Amino acid sequence: MQIKKHPLTSPAIGTNREVVSFHYGEASMGKKIYIQAALHADEAPGLLVAHYLRAQFAQLESEQKLNCEVVLVPVANPIGLAQWLDHTHIGRFELSTAENFNRHYPDIADAVANLIADKLNDDAAHNQRVIREAMRTALHQLTPKTELASLRHTLFTLAADANIMLDLHCDAEAKLHLYTGSPLWPMVEPLARYTGAVATLLETTSGDNPFDEACSRTWWLMQQKFADKPIPLGGVSVTVELRGSADVSHANAIKDAQAIVNYLTHQGYINLPAPPLPQLVAEATPLAGSEAIESPVSGVVSFLRELGETIKVGEAVVDITNPITGETTVLSATTEGILYARENRRFAHAGMRLCKIAGNVPFRTGKLLSA
Ligand SMILES: [Zn+2]
Repeated sequence: MQIKKHPLTSPAIGTNREVVSFHYGEASMGKKIYIQAALHADEAPGLLVAHYLRAQFAQLESEQKLNCEVVLVPVANPIGLAQWLDHTHIGRFELSTAENFNRHYPDIADAVANLIADKLNDDAAHNQRVIREAMRTALHQLTPKTELASLRHTLFTLAADANIMLDLHCDAEAKLHLYTGSPLWPMVEPLARYTGAVATLLETTSGDNPFDEACSRTWWLMQQKFADKPIPLGGVSVTVELRGSADVSHANAIKDAQAIVNYLTHQGYINLPAPPLPQLVAEATPLAGSEAIESPVSGVVSFLRELGETIKVGEAVVDITNPITGETTVLSATTEGILYARENRRFAHAGMRLCKIAGNVPFRTGKLLSA
């Protein structure tokens, strides 16, 4: 195992942060797994999962069971980790720009296309190597100018050429669920089984280029652009939502770390017999079919349904009480599907998103992720 430290651009005299990555196995094997935790720095479940993954990968490496290089970044966002305001952790947005740490990754598709245009041939493995090399070159040619840009650049550079990238997040209150690129579902389905995901949300363009799409979209874009060449989906990337932000326990973390190791084993990256595939809890659904119930009024939030329940159209899900007027506003689903995430605050402002239902009929357009 190797530990590497990646200094970020210093934002001000006297402040220096770094990203620390742990490297297991051999890069020379030509296959790479990348896992990071808490890109949204106030999402702690992944930090503890990464802690247990470190032990697992160290043991697998010592037993020479790794068929790949594993790069693990247990703390992906040292900027957000240090942001506290009024005794509240602000880990989702950088305070100085108000930008979401999981948006605005560089779009390298055009640069990659230019670099590979006359290097592709009829061998898919060759094309995969050429595209990986071009991704590394395209990223190397970028010069980040701010600390936030250097964080994005560091993480993207560590992850871009991975066969599998897992980005460990959580929601406010939630059951375990996944986000991934639509074409990747067949390769991600075993992960949904091992983790027991109650929903997998599929999209190719969620809006604002989140980290998982930045890592994988180049592959399907190159497939479209060079349709006469065999190009594999060389980068499978998944955002893993490890339940709610307070769902942190050793029992959950051990279970989730084992589920990840089981998935990597099933995919052939760990030289052990793969544990049997559990039943799939739920088929994947389009992100554009996920209904976010928003409150039209301000008031006290009372949920009427529990996470993991299937909600039918017209069923009441949450109500909002105004203690001055005495009015209660009942909000009902317009989509049938699993209630997979809820707000954890119980006072709503008008327009606040309160919960999400994974429906299977796409109806939304534009930017599909929450702020
Ligand atoms: Zn997150």
